[in-house]
Amino acid sequence: MAPRECGICWYVYQPAQGDDVWQVPPGTPFEALPDDWRCPRCDSAKDRFLPLREAPVDPRVRALEEAYRKIERERMSDFPLLNPALKVQAVGFRAFEGGLLGALVTPWSLNAIYFPPGGPPAPELGHDRALPAGPCRFFAQQVHGVEPIELASIVSPAVDFASQDEAVAAAGAAIDALLSPPPPPPKPAASRRELFPFLSRGPR
Ligand code: FE
Repeated sequence: MAPRECGICWYVYQPAQGDDVWQVPPGTPFEALPDDWRCPRCDSAKDRFLPLREAPVDPRVRALEEAYRKIERERMSDFPLLNPALKVQAVGFRAFEGGLLGALVTPWSLNAIYFPPGGPPAPELGHDRALPAGPCRFFAQQVHGVEPIELASIVSPAVDFASQDEAVAAAGAAIDALLSPPPPPPKPAASRRELFPFLSRGPR
């Protein structure tokens, strides 16, 4: 019986405790809650709940998610290329060169996001950041309520993902790939002389 977390207000449903507001008895798994059950704190629908994250979320990342949810509500409702299967979710953030690198899924995009350590902000026109996989072009962004970020587009628009799970998996894989050294180049084809050493022998 795994707990689940409201993706809007971060209320955690604990199956062992149930829910007094909706008179759900202790020991009720999340899956057994009625379909019309709603977040007792913010009244969000049941499908806004996500598996609880194991590690505490960095406050910068939480602020990022909250800011993008606000952008979704206030500025994106008329955007024609929204994917209704997707919601705002930060994925795979981890320390990188003194900053924090991860991905952000939104109903309209999948982006790599970097919180640079202090210092002058990156130029807005973009600059190549040296990642283990190779150079990657990031653009400085100012988002209200969020520390300065740099953003690199991975997928835009995000219309081809069939589900949130699919987008989250792609986001995690993208960050893993950016932080992994590229595979060694394939060996050049063996030369004729390596394949047929006897050819190099001189006449006997
Ligand atoms: Fe909630």
